[in-house]
Amino acid sequence: MITNIPGYPRIGSQRELKKACENYWAGKISLEKLELTARLLRKEHWETLHQAGIDLIPSNDFSFYDQMLDMSMALGVIPARFQELRRSFANPHCLELYFAMARGYQKNGFDLTAVEMTKWFDTNYHYLVPEFDHSQAYSLQSRKSVQEFQEALQQGTRTKPVLIGPVTYILCGKIKSAGVTRATLLQQLLPAYLELLAALRDAGADWIQLDEPSLVTDLEPADKILYQLAYTAIREAFPDLKLLLTTYFGALEDNTELALQLPVNALHIDLVRAPEQLDSILKALPDNMQLSLGVIDGRNIWKNDYAASLALINRATAALGADRVMLATSCSLLHVPYNLEDETALNADVKQWMAFARQKVQEVISLKKILAGDTALLAANQQVMEQRKTAPGIHVSAVKARLAGVTPDDFSRAHSFTERQPLQQEKLQLPLLPTTTIGSFPQTVEIRQLRSNLKKGHITAEQYDQDISAAIREAISWQESLGLDVLVHGEFERNDMVEYFGEQLEGFAFTQNGWVQSYGSRCVKPPVIYGDVWRPQPMTVAWSRYAQSLTGKPVKGMLTGPVTILQWSFVRNDQPRMDTALQIALAIRDEVKDLEDAGIAIIQVDEPALREGLPLRKSQQDAYLQQAVDAFRLSVAPVQDTTQIHTHMCYAEFNDIIAHIAAMDADVITMETSRSQMELLEAFAQFRYPNETGPGVYDIHSPRVPGVAEMGKLLQRAAELLPARNLWVNPDCGLKTRKWPETEMSLRNMVQAAREVRKQL
Ligand code: GLN
Ligand code: ZN
Repeated sequence: MITNIPGYPRIGSQRELKKACENYWAGKISLEKLELTARLLRKEHWETLHQAGIDLIPSNDFSFYDQMLDMSMALGVIPARFQELRRSFANPHCLELYFAMARGYQKNGFDLTAVEMTKWFDTNYHYLVPEFDHSQAYSLQSRKSVQEFQEALQQGTRTKPVLIGPVTYILCGKIKSAGVTRATLLQQLLPAYLELLAALRDAGADWIQLDEPSLVTDLEPADKILYQLAYTAIREAFPDLKLLLTTYFGALEDNTELALQLPVNALHIDLVRAPEQLDSILKALPDNMQLSLGVIDGRNIWKNDYAASLALINRATAALGADRVMLATSCSLLHVPYNLEDETALNADVKQWMAFARQKVQEVISLKKILAGDTALLAANQQVMEQRKTAPGIHVSAVKARLAGVTPDDFSRAHSFTERQPLQQEKLQLPLLPTTTIGSFPQTVEIRQLRSNLKKGHITAEQYDQDISAAIREAISWQESLGLDVLVHGEFERNDMVEYFGEQLEGFAFTQNGWVQSYGSRCVKPPVIYGDVWRPQPMTVAWSRYAQSLTGKPVKGMLTGPVTILQWSFVRNDQPRMDTALQIALAIRDEVKDLEDAGIAIIQVDEPALREGLPLRKSQQDAYLQQAVDAFRLSVAPVQDTTQIHTHMCYAEFNDIIAHIAAMDADVITMETSRSQMELLEAFAQFRYPNETGPGVYDIHSPRVPGVAEMGKLLQRAAELLPARNLWVNPDCGLKTRKWPETEMSLRNMVQAAREVRKQL
């Protein structure tokens, strides 16, 4: 039985690639040094897979920034604005141009904005969106995949080059010129694509993996035709290349027939996300097609349950025979950390339930060994699975009982927004267009140092508390002097908006080195939710109470919402995700109640990641959104009418989920809108969104200081769209990534803009 790995992480087990790239960008290391780092990483990855005994070892899964951008470089999909820069380079396909597209370019008289970035399907990985325009002439322009194949071959491994399939590549891109359609694009791109395949074949490639995750999404009839055209053309040009059509992140569903008709040698399916699709595929798989079973989870960090995988594998081998079946991870291992062995501080129990990339490769091999008769491997695995079911902390009866006892009333505030609004106004006495910020203030070197000194034991808890208190004191009086109406404590004590809460909740574990790539050189280290979640004690009350004691103005309590905590963690796979979300919601609910009891009149529960959990298939989106909204509501519902609940969301695009945002029933929602010039508010106006909103009036992602008039204009536009009494004035998001001087100037201008617009209303 052939073993297959669709892709391996590339950032380096010690984030070597991240560091090398950042050093290269900063001019601290040479291009040669950067390329050497990359080569060593690739070598190590191929060796790891080779030594493990994997048959289909990926190449071209390495990337200096992003695999979609690699494809754009390969095919010549260079946006018009980069053409002049490109001509200015001696080698028009050098890494310099590549990084310019990835990160923007402000040098030598050029001022080019980066290529747009967006989420790769439903993952937390972000890719660079291909921009298709008139100016482009497509042909094979970067031989990266060929060079990497040859590099591996020289080291003794005949790899399986991985390419983004032509249709997914097009569907994930953006057409920028009128008259260009996907169908014409395919016709224009195909020759370049075929050239690329020819170069790989000529270099000696045998199997080629074509990633087509778009096959698990809702496709238009015209897109289905693209698949047929593309793959027929590829097959005609290369009758002998072995094509491995690779799908992941969901079920083929209504695209099953389409996928099975394509002239490819093998199909890879994700049986972790969608085990139910196996039987229909087995029934219809053409005789000459092999099936790669993605049974090891490439999206999560749990050890595989071999018995469950074997049940699937045995069904496949019974129907197809062992020689037509491949064993694989569900998708590329890009989405999990490198090596569990590097974790030396994890709780031993939790650790033995987990597997990272290296261990997952081993699991594929172990399944093969078990099929060949190694019963000891299976028995050992079953023992771990059994132990996990009953280990302490996994199922906490009090938590389960509390969740079971939740009633529909627990999801709703006592009275409607219309009844709450006047009561809150009376209590808070805020002016029209109240000004506020989203929560965090600049995280200076000193503040970071303070937290790390506490962690390392370099300072006492008392010293730390004193210094954080001083930072809060300063922030409060500073906000008063700026004239802001609703203040925040500044979040100086928080490293990260999820980790801070995870560290104080039961059921969470933290890795030391569990990094996964988010985009480019950016990595995240998600917490692990392994057991029932509950809150042993208040998490934020002391700091909020302290901040409120310093001023007569309201200070917002500041919490992260249940969906965002869920979305940015590795979540346990032994109960429905939404049960875990509701457990977190109950913990946040207790915190909300405690804040209210401590005299905090405004409590903000951030849900920036609410939209991120949206399922790929439209038919499942509504159910998800309802559950997500329920989790939010459960966490904020118990407060009195006079307590004002805020939420905050960013990453724009709310138009299509506005009914669900309204269903959250937050008294106030602040959100990212400034880059879209309040366009977003049109959807709110059309919907007649009833509650209060704070559309961001300036973009916090850049150090640029916005002017009074410019923000005033946006506010006026907002007041045309929504009743002024329902509007707040605030930046787009938290200010933690900014510096103090620009923050001060920007907020000063913002307060001034609010004052001026108030006079005109
Ligand atoms: N309260 C958080 C902050 O201000 C919100 C961050 C976010 O939306 N991503 O940093
Ligand atoms: Zn935000």
